[in-house]
Amino acid sequence: MADTELYDLLEVGQNASDADIKKNYHKLARQYHPDKNPGAEDKFKEIQSAYEVLSDPQKRQMYDRFGMAAVRGDAPGGGEGGPFGGIFSQMFGGGGDIFGGMGGRRRVAKAETIGLPLEVSLEEMYNGATKHVEYKRQVVCKTCNGTGGKSGSVTTCKPCRGSGIKVTHRPLGPGMMQQIQSVCTDCGGSGDYIRDKDKCKKCKGKRLVEINHKQEVPVSMGMRHEQKIPFRGMADEMPDGEPGDMIVILQQLDHTDYRRVDCDLFVEKSISLREALCGFTCTLYHLDGRNLRLSTPPGAVLSPGCIHGLEGEGMPVFRRPDVKGNLYVQFTIQFPDSGFLEESQLKELECLLPTRPGPPALDPEAEEVDMIESEGTRGVGGAQGGGAIYDEDEEDDERVGGAQRVGCSQQ
Ligand SMILES: [Zn+2]
Ligand SMILES: [Zn+2]
Repeated sequence: MADTELYDLLEVGQNASDADIKKNYHKLARQYHPDKNPGAEDKFKEIQSAYEVLSDPQKRQMYDRFGMAAVRGDAPGGGEGGPFGGIFSQMFGGGGDIFGGMGGRRRVAKAETIGLPLEVSLEEMYNGATKHVEYKRQVVCKTCNGTGGKSGSVTTCKPCRGSGIKVTHRPLGPGMMQQIQSVCTDCGGSGDYIRDKDKCKKCKGKRLVEINHKQEVPVSMGMRHEQKIPFRGMADEMPDGEPGDMIVILQQLDHTDYRRVDCDLFVEKSISLREALCGFTCTLYHLDGRNLRLSTPPGAVLSPGCIHGLEGEGMPVFRRPDVKGNLYVQFTIQFPDSGFLEESQLKELECLLPTRPGPPALDPEAEEVDMIESEGTRGVGGAQGGGAIYDEDEEDDERVGGAQRVGCSQQ
């Protein structure tokens, strides 16, 4: 079956001229415009998307050649949740479901295009890798050279008169018949007939045999999630036509530590309060196996959630692997648990830390309240600053600080 969905949406034939496509698009866009036709929004969007593809000669050609797969890969804004999500999602069902077509204006028949997902780790996308996909494909039987039987044994299938299609009729109601076309079961749609005893022993007259195929897939540095790698003619073969194309669609696996956004990488580094205040040095393993040494200059203070960038340490750019994005390290700071200091040490620490902001404005009317630790604010960047340390301040002379803080947040 040729993939004609986009043509059908615009109610034109596959050979329609650009002018016809434009004319029908304007007509249908008016008809289904949400202002005029509330509830037809999806249809309107589909029509718009179809026109976006068919009005662009290059996209139209890709669509004719590869069906929806090409459209999804090349049309801008064709991401998840687009009007054609259903078609795209089908192909991840069984690993080999069909999502393409034989091509619209092709004269020679061509087997269907198949899409195969291939899981790739972030390391493999960073460094490049050689991967494999394994799948079953139909290839032309070598024993009979795709004829299905001994030479001269092939004749026309009588039930379908060589067309490969059977037409049956089904009553729908009084005086109404539905015409149903189906593939001829006698010849399997080939239109040929071979006597059983003349059938090829290897393919049993089917002209094709199924083989397990292992395809090497080169993954280049900097390739991305959902990037397509086409393999021309590597899907099923056809006795009287061109073999179908196979397209590998990369699926980037989540990484335990690194997160990728385009060409940039993000990593979280947890350090102690002591390291945040007094400086630290650590090593960070990179996706290419190197270890990077991170350190703060003496006197530098890292605040919770702060992000430091390492230029040129991100993902390589596809086809320009010498160019790399940036690596961003976000620091989370582990505060010590309550009660790690004696009262005397607390005073010492108080002396070392920067002074409290201004003299506390004592309002004799201020209501005294109890602060209860709340689960919801623990362990999150900035909230840590007010957590553990202030919980220690339950001494009488310190309570004012706490009461004031609560008062402020209520204003
Ligand atoms: Zn037949
Ligand atoms: Zn054979």
